[in-house]
Amino acid sequence: MARNKTVCCGLSALEVTLGVLFGLMTAVTVALVQDTHTDPPHPPFHPPPPPPSGDPQHKPYLIGIGRADCTGPPADIPLMGYASTEQVAAGIHTRLYSRAFIVDDGRKRVVFVTADVGMISQRLRLEVLQALQTKYGDLYRQDNVVLSGTHTHCGLAGYFQYTLFMVTSKGYIPASVKPLVNGIVKSVDIAHRNMRPGRIYRKKGELDGSSLNRSPHSYMNNPEEERHKYKTNTDKQVVVLKFTDLDGDGIGMLSWFAVHAVSMNYSNRMVSSDNMGHASYLMEQDKNPGELPGQGGFVAGFSSSNLGDVSPNIKGPYCMNTMEPCDYLNSSCPVGGTKMCKAFGPGNDMFESTRIIGHNIYTKAKELYAAADEEVTGFIQSAHQWVNMTDVTIQFNNTHMASTCKPALGHSFAAGTTDGGGDLNFTQGSTEGDPFWDRIRDTLLGPPSNKTQECHHPKPILFNTGEMNWPLPWHPQIVDVQIITVGTMAIVAVPGEFTTMSGRRLREAVKQELESDGLIRDWEVVLAGLSNIYTHYITTYEEYQVQRYEGASTIYGPHTLSAYLQNYAKLARAIAQDRVSTLPPGPEPPFFKKNLFNLLPSAPVDGKPVNRSFGDVLEQVSPVYRPGDVVSVTFVAGNPRHSGDIRDKSFVTVEIFDNRTETWEIVHTDASWETRFHWLKGLKRQSTAKVEWHIPATAVAGLYRIQHFGHYMHFQNLRPTIKPYQGSSQAFTVTPSFYYQRHH
Ligand code: ZN
Repeated sequence: MARNKTVCCGLSALEVTLGVLFGLMTAVTVALVQDTHTDPPHPPFHPPPPPPSGDPQHKPYLIGIGRADCTGPPADIPLMGYASTEQVAAGIHTRLYSRAFIVDDGRKRVVFVTADVGMISQRLRLEVLQALQTKYGDLYRQDNVVLSGTHTHCGLAGYFQYTLFMVTSKGYIPASVKPLVNGIVKSVDIAHRNMRPGRIYRKKGELDGSSLNRSPHSYMNNPEEERHKYKTNTDKQVVVLKFTDLDGDGIGMLSWFAVHAVSMNYSNRMVSSDNMGHASYLMEQDKNPGELPGQGGFVAGFSSSNLGDVSPNIKGPYCMNTMEPCDYLNSSCPVGGTKMCKAFGPGNDMFESTRIIGHNIYTKAKELYAAADEEVTGFIQSAHQWVNMTDVTIQFNNTHMASTCKPALGHSFAAGTTDGGGDLNFTQGSTEGDPFWDRIRDTLLGPPSNKTQECHHPKPILFNTGEMNWPLPWHPQIVDVQIITVGTMAIVAVPGEFTTMSGRRLREAVKQELESDGLIRDWEVVLAGLSNIYTHYITTYEEYQVQRYEGASTIYGPHTLSAYLQNYAKLARAIAQDRVSTLPPGPEPPFFKKNLFNLLPSAPVDGKPVNRSFGDVLEQVSPVYRPGDVVSVTFVAGNPRHSGDIRDKSFVTVEIFDNRTETWEIVHTDASWETRFHWLKGLKRQSTAKVEWHIPATAVAGLYRIQHFGHYMHFQNLRPTIKPYQGSSQAFTVTPSFYYQRHH
């Protein structure tokens, strides 16, 4: 059987067909998933007093900022992004965090959350909003809370309620949903509790050398006069908001930059926050000196943007077998086809690439943060609507009309991208169907209706998701559109991956409406990508005609972008005219309680080698290391899923012996960039934890040890019982490197 992997943000055809078959076979045993909320109800919320009045021109805001761990059990659960059946979690590279920013002008309040997840799903958002409602009543609502994902492809999957996404995620997985919901809500709780008067400053700059357009052929199909308005075929802009208290001390930073978080590729199986998360990590380590990762008051959010056609693999695509460039339109190779064409760089491996891209984004943001001097002042607004995206009529002028379509994915969707391509014989840029796959589709799923086929033209439909409703709809119909504004800063929350040019058109349309009252102001409009609900990609009409991966994944048809331009313009106009309360909420999205399925088997009882205990060292460390070396130690381990809620804990510590206090001090956890926690499955339900410490050049010389913490399940009195365990390496010495001795 062909190996299936690496379709960025999507599925390969075989997976879906297999998924359908599997679904049919298991119809009888579909496991209904129970409601995930276990938190007791909280007392109603009492709003804080209004901010102190000062100079009305520069009245401070109330600002609250919070960060919380949202990492789920890093074992057995598929990772979300490449839709590879082989890419299931097996350890931790870096932890995942949710970062929340609340701003209040004494009259209105908005919340912006950027979380280290592939994307926000409608289900995740609805569960978060329900939890916030229970705690805070009507304070945090669908109109004033934006949830955005960084688009890391190495977070856990399984938090979707539409069938297409459940098929590749082993269903709806409560173990994956809970830490996300609880982590996001906790970040809002922390922000809520520490609200204080403060100020916001903004700065914009450009970052080169960190992004590359992965579908230039599509981009070139945009009108020439439009392309000539821009220097580059990806947006290089970095927009930074600096948050300070009234003393001017920095308390947080929020930024937007458009690049895919796919520096970590489909071969990685450790949970990782990828390049955007690494930028947050570096900024927070910098601003919280002496703190372990995830600790410290300063919070740095790096939000996604219009990254639809933007790759971080800046050496670009080439054929791995011949080192020749790939075909320009199809991104395929003469020998090996699509799967041989991959993009790489800038580093020699994915870890180095992640580090370089993350460091570049961090460095630019830090520079802009330091220089931010343009104060953001003025009222806060939020506008939100639910829109039925399958049925939007677009009025181009008085004579010309068009409509969106029921969702469908085209053939090129199954080809994947040069950041991770499908293994089947699909190529990008396909505007003609393939009889072989069409026959399979018709047999298994039924042919798309003529109306849907015509509506999506020139997209040859592979998955007719809009007409598939078993056991639940395969794709959403009701989509969130939302804009929040703070002074003249507008954050447009978009439900998927806008391409570069789509994003530019949307920013421009929103800006135009915001300025429609005739007052010229310095509006800064940013797109927050992967927000609120996931609807794949949104290309321009012209890009859609080329039907590369992004066009094939524009699920509501060629006029999807036009529909969004119309709907977001409506919100922006309401904001400009101060009448957001008159916007009808639109049709409420469904919250499915039945027919969610969970195909993840429960974690089995753990086995261990005879005469060994959990936590025992199987492969010991060496006595001496130098900076630059990799320390490695392997322990007898339990399944990390037995550790339950792993948030704010660590499977790993690197500790140094403090001679003065004669105690071990933690210098790294599993959230640290320098550590890698690999969970490896063996035979007979036995597993091991291989812990690596990549000793940084900055490491202090001294005596160290590595500890591993976990839980195992065994039978006690014939009942499965979970017990904690702990293991420690022998102590080892890190000596100064030769370089270090000579120069310091
Ligand atoms: Zn993507």
